[in-house]
Amino acid sequence: MYEIYADMHVHIGRSENGKPIKITAAKSLNFANIAKECYERKGINLVGIIDCASPYVIEDIDNFLKSGDAYEIEDGGIVYKDKVCIILGSEVETSEINDNGKKGSAHNLCYFPTLADIKAFSNELRLHLKNITLSTQRTDLSGYDLIDIVEKYNGILIPAHCFTPHKSYYGNCTDSLKKIFKEKYDRIPAIELGLSSDTYLADQISELEGKTFLTNSDAHSLPKIAREYNKMELGGISFKEFVKAVKNEEGRKIVANYGLDPKLGKYHRTFCEKCNKRIPGPAPVLKCDTCVSHNITMGVFDRIEIIKDKKESISPKNRPEYIYQIPLTFIPGIGGKTIDKLLEHFGTEMTILHKLSSDDIEAVIGSKIAKNIIDAREGKMHIIEGGGGVYGKVE
Ligand SMILES: [Zn+2]
Ligand SMILES: [Zn+2]
Repeated sequence: MYEIYADMHVHIGRSENGKPIKITAAKSLNFANIAKECYERKGINLVGIIDCASPYVIEDIDNFLKSGDAYEIEDGGIVYKDKVCIILGSEVETSEINDNGKKGSAHNLCYFPTLADIKAFSNELRLHLKNITLSTQRTDLSGYDLIDIVEKYNGILIPAHCFTPHKSYYGNCTDSLKKIFKEKYDRIPAIELGLSSDTYLADQISELEGKTFLTNSDAHSLPKIAREYNKMELGGISFKEFVKAVKNEEGRKIVANYGLDPKLGKYHRTFCEKCNKRIPGPAPVLKCDTCVSHNITMGVFDRIEIIKDKKESISPKNRPEYIYQIPLTFIPGIGGKTIDKLLEHFGTEMTILHKLSSDDIEAVIGSKIAKNIIDAREGKMHIIEGGGGVYGKVE
């Protein structure tokens, strides 16, 4: 058994030959570049790419396998240069009827063991949406139906960023996942926390006690890969081992969640879209303190305050520790050039954020920025909370 780092939510911007997949994501974010970035710069061993049901991406994967650097393994997944295992996934938007009888939508992470499985899933999924080539298109399915289709092709379903205001189960569909999945609820092994929440916030909801928490980047560009990630204990890198870990089977498990301080997330607090500002006040904030507009975007922190059913946050015994990290891009004084310089010297961002001494960092980039990195590591920076799609800020 050994420890590995996993980021299970990375998008694709364009296919290799420039076809749009996720329009808002970077052009350089393609299948081969993600594998390389994980291998060379991020130190990620298990990566979930969640736009693999697009036929353009499937074409790229076929070509990637022919390149000779990567191969499919029997336990599921594609291994690149023996070090990085890519798990083929698809983020699917479902249509739900929310607790008030209105329409809601939620994102779901669906992971599959083989290219053949995701090809078959893609062929069935296309019957439920308008454009199968694009990322995370809205389907006419509910999560309750989707899980059967996913399992038919040997996959697993994990609710994505499950508290975010626009596209998530708790954010705009329900106050209880059990209401959506009913008797199928136990077939969901895990949930993704999302950037604006953490373990301690989520552990105020009792129905989540039996679920594993995942912290993933939801990266829309190469540098953002691993801004959140999981440390896992596995017997190897494969789809099968990943599934065992999220199900806590045979000693496989998540040993730590590394995530942003949720205050840095872009939906942490309630935001007034009319005044274009984060609304101050104790949670839950439900209306603007300045105008009478009802056009607010609910914060994750505020939403959890409403739906929580525990008096305090008590985590189950086997819950791994949540370790706050402030990615280099958030740290004051650090731009692209400094990051390149650091990576050149120290290999990966993980080493820089968590392992190096102040002296080591100082030798390369000077004492002022080195101090910022160490202060961020030790939680000594002041954070201005994010909301309404605007990231929080470190001061
Ligand atoms: Zn999503
Ligand atoms: Zn307002």
